[in-house]
Amino acid sequence: MNPPCARCGKIVYPTEKVSCLDKNWHKGCFHCEVCKMTLNMKNYKGYDKKPYCNAVYRLGSLRRSRHALT
Ligand SMILES: [Zn+2]
Ligand SMILES: [Zn+2]
Repeated sequence: MNPPCARCGKIVYPTEKVSCLDKNWHKGCFHCEVCKMTLNMKNYKGYDKKPYCNAVYRLGSLRRSRHALT
């Protein structure tokens, strides 16, 4: 059975699947929580089960941006 995407909730088929952070994502849905940059298995940074880009992660702005998102 194909799992739902952690971002959009639609079914993820094996050809477009990214398995990260204990979840499954469409390739296009696996993007940074803050700047929306598309990520992949090699360049993502996981934090709190969500993907972030290197720049955001390094800046240490996660705390602030999490507030901004809510
Ligand atoms: Zn999706
Ligand atoms: Zn980012």
